[in-house]
Amino acid sequence: MHHKKYLDRTIFYLFLISCPITTLSISRYFFSGWEPVYFRDIFLTLWLATLHYTASSYNVKALSLVFIFNSISVGNIYAYLMWGTGGIGFLIATVFCWLYFNKKYAILNMIAIALFGLYYFNWVASFPLQLDRTLTPMDVTLQFAALLFLLYPIIDFLDEINTERKTADNELKDQLEKVKRAEAAKTNFLANTSHEMRTPLNAILGGIELLDSTSLTKQQQEFIRVSQTAGKSLKRVIDDVLDMARIEAEGVEIEPNWFHSNALIDDVVSLFTHGARPAKINIEANIDPDVPRWLYGDTGRIKQVLFNLMSNAIKFTEQGKVTASLQCLEADNTFRFTVTDTGIGIPKAIGDNVFEAFSQVDSSLVRKQQGSGLGLAISKHLVFAMKGKINYQSKPNEGTSFWFDLHLDSAQHRKSPINAKASEAPETFFEALPEGAYRLLLAEDSTANSFILRTYLETAGHEVDLASNGLEALALAKKFSYDAILMDLSMPEMDGLEATQILRAKEGVNRDTPIIALTAHVLKEIREQCVEAGMTNFLTKPVSKEKLLETLDDSVAAGQHDLRF
Ligand code: ADP
Repeated sequence: MHHKKYLDRTIFYLFLISCPITTLSISRYFFSGWEPVYFRDIFLTLWLATLHYTASSYNVKALSLVFIFNSISVGNIYAYLMWGTGGIGFLIATVFCWLYFNKKYAILNMIAIALFGLYYFNWVASFPLQLDRTLTPMDVTLQFAALLFLLYPIIDFLDEINTERKTADNELKDQLEKVKRAEAAKTNFLANTSHEMRTPLNAILGGIELLDSTSLTKQQQEFIRVSQTAGKSLKRVIDDVLDMARIEAEGVEIEPNWFHSNALIDDVVSLFTHGARPAKINIEANIDPDVPRWLYGDTGRIKQVLFNLMSNAIKFTEQGKVTASLQCLEADNTFRFTVTDTGIGIPKAIGDNVFEAFSQVDSSLVRKQQGSGLGLAISKHLVFAMKGKINYQSKPNEGTSFWFDLHLDSAQHRKSPINAKASEAPETFFEALPEGAYRLLLAEDSTANSFILRTYLETAGHEVDLASNGLEALALAKKFSYDAILMDLSMPEMDGLEATQILRAKEGVNRDTPIIALTAHVLKEIREQCVEAGMTNFLTKPVSKEKLLETLDDSVAAGQHDLRF
């Protein structure tokens, strides 16, 4: 602790204190004769004056202080008389040692004083001192005043250390606040600009698509293709930036629902098997037979992470295989989603840095693959928000395996598929769902509701049969085979749950047809009852057209698995 300022101050205070003491000593000389301690006082005052008025080095000043206090103590007969010891000075010297040098010096000072003390007291005993001299009130007052004044710089010093620490704390807080503000400003800026970019980009892409539907020459079509590809990859980057900004600003909100495990993997994988993909890569899915059919989690987020991992796997693999798999882990209800590739791999030195935002293993200008460097950072945030873990293993030039583990509730209303290994039947497993119309049964007692739902479905090109209660629904389901059944839960005569149970229990054409529950309840218990009864999916009323059609597609996809296995 080298505090020059305090050292100078202490020397100055001491000098001020020593002046009256020395004056008193000199005046005493005239009244009662010479005592060695007077000489010490004069000497110390001169010494302090020299230290104060001339430029001495830090060490000289600090050592002088320590010595002065030791010697005050040693020579302070008055203190010895008053307190039976001159130890206060030693203590102060020791504290100074500690303050101006370090703890080690302080301990050394104490040892030295102890040794010297032994010698000194013998020496004092042989001295012809006038120990019987009575102390005047003036002496006592001065001694106390001197001690108080000596303590003052120490208190002052400690106080200032404290203030300094507090100031440093405040400065740190200010800095932190500034960093936070800057971070928020950056996030806002990113969010706003990405949004501003996305809107016109959507218009550009829309325009290009419209242009594409007009009659064009081959060359013009080629131009359109190039613009579309570039536009789409720009959109992906902007979406990523916007997503990341949103996650940083608002965090991630998790909205779990029941989903069909096979259908989820299938959905993601089919996005890649149906789009333009490198011919030399085989894309497969591999779902462990132990995985329960129904899991409860945020499908949107899980799909998003899987999508990011799959995109990377395909992007960084020139040939070979990319596999998306889902398995149960030993731990209770923990499921591992893995995406494995046979690509270029990630060097060991990169470690966890791949999960940092804007990190790219190859950030050179000549890098082959495009990307924002945000995919994995977003994935990590999403997995953490779902209270899961994400990690990877990789061997350069052999391949990479990214996985994330999630703890999910599960339900298995029917026996799980005997073998869901898609790799064994990739063609059928990933076959696109037939585009176009579904034949649907809508069981709903409220005419207003059924009118709206029917309009939504029919305007989307589907064919709808209506039933106004469970019994009617069962009668229709006996006669016709449907692609899906939309079932209201509370209906007169027979409710949706009972109708579903009967449908699932009896042999019939619709035994495996997806059934979507229509319910105003969002309670998990109700949903669980639906799963137990054998329903495929849920829709919470009021239903938007978009949500209705999306759920329908999801459920029909799930239903196909049911029929096949
Ligand atoms: P990007 O948009 O660049 O793909 P990501 O955050 O998704 O950003 O990935 C960061 C970097 O990690 C990539 O640029 C790539 O270098 C590396 N990486 C990610 N996945 C793989 C993979 N499956 N194989 C090889 N490298 C990968």
